[in-house]
Amino acid sequence: MKKILLLLLPLTMMACQEVKTDAPPTMGITTIDTDFSKGRLGLKHQLALEDLAKFHGHLCDGLVVGYQALREAFKILYPSGVVDRTNTRIVSQPSPCLTDAAVYLTGGRYQFNTFYVSKDIPGLFVVQRIDDGKTVAVSLNKGVKPAAIDSLGKLAIQGKLAACQLDKLKEMEDRFSDYLLQSPPSANFTVAALHHFEWNPVLKNDVVKTDILNKNTPPCK
Ligand SMILES: [Zn+2]
Repeated sequence: MKKILLLLLPLTMMACQEVKTDAPPTMGITTIDTDFSKGRLGLKHQLALEDLAKFHGHLCDGLVVGYQALREAFKILYPSGVVDRTNTRIVSQPSPCLTDAAVYLTGGRYQFNTFYVSKDIPGLFVVQRIDDGKTVAVSLNKGVKPAAIDSLGKLAIQGKLAACQLDKLKEMEDRFSDYLLQSPPSANFTVAALHHFEWNPVLKNDVVKTDILNKNTPPCK
C-alpha cells in the first residue's frame, strides 16, 4: 500500500449537513442487488443491525462498530443513500465481527476479487466503488473505545479471564455498544478519501477466530 494520500473530508461540515442521516441504526442500510441468479439490478433491501447480528451469530461491540463505520463510509460513496452491493469492494481488518460486517453489508467476497483482509490499511475498512474508483478509509476515532475493553479482550484471547471476568467484559462491551448507538456516528468515526489506493488482495487463512475461543467456559457462579 504505497502512495496513499490521505485527504481529510470536512467532517464538521458533513455533520451539519447530514443530521438527517444520523438516524438510529434500526433505520437500516438500504442496499440494491440483482433480482435473481441472472437478474437485473433493482432489488432493494433494508439491512438492520439485527439482520447483521443473525448473520454474524451474536450482537457485540465489534459488530456495532463495523455497522456504523460502514454506514459513515456509504454516506460518502453513495450519497443517494442506496448502497450498490454489485459495485462495492472492501478491505477489512481481520476481526471476526468486522469481516462479517464487511461482506454482509457490501456484498464483497474474496472469490470475486471484491473482499480481502489486511492489517496494513488505515483504520477499520477501506471501501471502494468499482464504477468510479472512489475509495475511502473509515476509522474509529481515538479514545472512543474504552481501553480496558482491548486490554481485557487480549487476556480473554489468551484464555486468562475467569468465567465471571468474561461476564464483566461482556458488560463493558454492551455498555460501549449502547454508547455508540446513542451518539451520532459522525462524532465517533472519521471517513477519509484515499487516492491511488492499491488493491492488493491476499488470501489469508491463518487468522484466529477470537470470538469462539472461550465457548466452553462454564457460567459465572
Ligand atoms: Zn462479534
